[in-house]
Amino acid sequence: MLTSLDLLEKIAATPTPWHAVQNVKTALEEKGFSHLPAWENQSFGAGDFYVTRNGSALIALRIPEGLNPEKASFRVTAAHGDSPCFRVKPDGMLTGNQPRLNTELYGGSIHSSWMDTPLGLAGRVMLRTEEGIVPKLIFSQKPVAVIPNTAPHLRPMNDGLVLDPKCDLIPLCAGGDLKEMIVEILKESGEDFPKDAVVGWDLSLVIPEKGQVIGSAEEGLLVSPRLDDLECVYTCLEGFLAAEGPENVISVFALFDNEETGSLSYAGAAGTFLKDVLARVLPDERQRQAAFARSFFVSADNAHALHPNHPELSDGQNAPRMNGGIVIKYNAAQRYMSDGFSGAVFAEICRKASVPVQTFANRADKRGGSTLGNLSEAQVPMRGVDIGLPQLAMHSARETAGCKDVDYMVRGITAFYSEDFSLSDEGLQWN
Ligand code: ZN
Repeated sequence: MLTSLDLLEKIAATPTPWHAVQNVKTALEEKGFSHLPAWENQSFGAGDFYVTRNGSALIALRIPEGLNPEKASFRVTAAHGDSPCFRVKPDGMLTGNQPRLNTELYGGSIHSSWMDTPLGLAGRVMLRTEEGIVPKLIFSQKPVAVIPNTAPHLRPMNDGLVLDPKCDLIPLCAGGDLKEMIVEILKESGEDFPKDAVVGWDLSLVIPEKGQVIGSAEEGLLVSPRLDDLECVYTCLEGFLAAEGPENVISVFALFDNEETGSLSYAGAAGTFLKDVLARVLPDERQRQAAFARSFFVSADNAHALHPNHPELSDGQNAPRMNGGIVIKYNAAQRYMSDGFSGAVFAEICRKASVPVQTFANRADKRGGSTLGNLSEAQVPMRGVDIGLPQLAMHSARETAGCKDVDYMVRGITAFYSEDFSLSDEGLQWN
């Protein structure tokens, strides 16, 4: 079973969405899943498979033996592997009295949380070889940059200062040549490439160190970078791998990229990745549409917990507590896909598994965020819920969540994939 300490290890080894796909691939292959390359026309029979897109999104499938396509349905969980960070621009460096990395913000981070902390460099680099161009993942845990604050002696720092991305948030580094930095990082992992072999990159500045636990690892708090949404990625994956699906149920685990920038991309939930893969599983359009009408989608992305210093920011009743269980998120404007029926379905599955659930709804005057579920819905029509684990400081460089909730999510998702039930507009029926 995945413990909160295991989760911190996994998150520390996942600085970027490309690393998320690589690590999930490794976990799947250890369980006997095989890769079906999206660029080859292979059919999907019974068995355990995965497909990737752009190296930053992945869909894993368990297709049961003896599947009757006339009775098939999908059970999907989806989470995202990207997090707010600083992306290195194509020209890489700014010159001046101290070398600086030319970056822009990826996603909506809390700017102040990135100040005065050592930053690592991670992502993929494109290398020219004799045969062509090869993408390779890199991760320098040894810090390469820092974004220093200005001293309060020079300008007021505690009177509502707004940090300006174009000057306040430019990272300083020691070396003056990005390609040299890349070649050095490759060398540390035993790969020897000349500087002029580096022909492109998707690189981020990230918090390189592992998160920590406050209090006990069973009931305390987790403080870690990238809990949104790697906590859901690894807990849902654990549940997906632990479950034995019922007859005629195709279990699907989806890891998307680009949620933090709106999901509309090649590897994002608003793109066609899931739709395209499910069309390969059930190629007959009418069979697939009927299967969708019997299916259920769980969009798993962390939720805002009640902040003890700012309870007024939450709805008084629908304000989840850390260590209080899985959160089902509701929004009248359907930014979350949960409704009364789908919420009841998921809550009942959790109740049967003795997993506590809580609800989240925005304070009535707040618009709130959106996530994967309703965007994916436009491509793949299924009923479903938006869920997450309660956390504080979402989009901070380091976020806070509850240790106990890790186990709740694994058990809830295992039950979701394992329970034998049928769905239609006429309701849920336990089989
Ligand atoms: Zn998220």
